[in-house]
Amino acid sequence: MKAVQFTEHGDRDVIEYGDFPDPAPDRDEVLVDVKAGALNHLDVWTRRGLPGIDVEMPHIPGSDGAGEVVAVGEGVTRFEPGDRVALSAGVSCGDCEYCRHGEHSLCVRYHIIGEHVRGVHSELAAIPEDNLLEVPEGVPWETAAAAPLVFQTAWRMLISRAELKPGEDVLVLGASGGVGHAAVQIADYAGANVYATGSSEAKLQHARDLGAQAAFDYTEEDFADRIRDETGKRGVDVVVDHVGAATWQDSLASLAKGGRVVTCGATTGGNPETDINRIFWNQLQVIGSTMASKGEADDVMELVWDGTFEPAIREVLPMSEAARAHELLEEREGFGKVVVKPDSEL
Ligand SMILES: [Zn+2]
Repeated sequence: MKAVQFTEHGDRDVIEYGDFPDPAPDRDEVLVDVKAGALNHLDVWTRRGLPGIDVEMPHIPGSDGAGEVVAVGEGVTRFEPGDRVALSAGVSCGDCEYCRHGEHSLCVRYHIIGEHVRGVHSELAAIPEDNLLEVPEGVPWETAAAAPLVFQTAWRMLISRAELKPGEDVLVLGASGGVGHAAVQIADYAGANVYATGSSEAKLQHARDLGAQAAFDYTEEDFADRIRDETGKRGVDVVVDHVGAATWQDSLASLAKGGRVVTCGATTGGNPETDINRIFWNQLQVIGSTMASKGEADDVMELVWDGTFEPAIREVLPMSEAARAHELLEEREGFGKVVVKPDSEL
């Protein structure tokens, strides 16, 4: 088969699209004919190399993908050849104290397909049955590939971790990115008043189209000041921050008393200055979140399959142009998800 792959960490020029041995499904795995994959910032981090994560080379990236089942291992019960499936990339053990409580993304052996083990940006992929979602007829492959990672991440952040309530005010940073644009849709669906930031008028308009009542350019104005103006000096109940060091202090300063900031990442750096005085005096909560449980993923994907939520597709590229796909993420061009398809599917 052909696969996107790299044999060493580095810049985009380490990425190749070439031959790789066809995978064979193990007992509990499903062999999928991949129709589309999607990128996440995780793919960029994995390509550059993450401290403490030693991937087997050559590494195939890709934590999002969808396709058709072509073969199943003898222990597989939920799928058969011809079924339409999408990947849900978090792998949990099922046995540890967290898994036994249904908290799969807290699993002590938690790892992510595409990050810690080979991913799915390839013509074929052997995937554990547990990591596949059924995709209804009529859902485009691009949608099925683009939605799972970011929608499950944003769902757990807002619904399970921040416990967002109808009528609350929420600020979503980077609302045109993968998690951001999912978070705007989910917060609007939950009945919150949504504020959003972005870095260009086109991105801000996109956030408004998704349900944000106000969106403003954080490169032109201080977003914490703007939030104070918008909320009659009160601040918002919840901030969704996946930006990190560049925004952390302003995220805290945007919160109402008793507010919650929920983070799932730190694309601009993970060690910002913080403000402990503000945290204790205003009784703020700092909440971490990563991926989602299987049940949370099922809940949010039902709402993707029925069209309530829709991943925006920024661009569809052949896998042979995977380096360009990485560039779109790294240069923050456009909004929504970048999809890649095997060249043979285009
Ligand atoms: Zn576990």
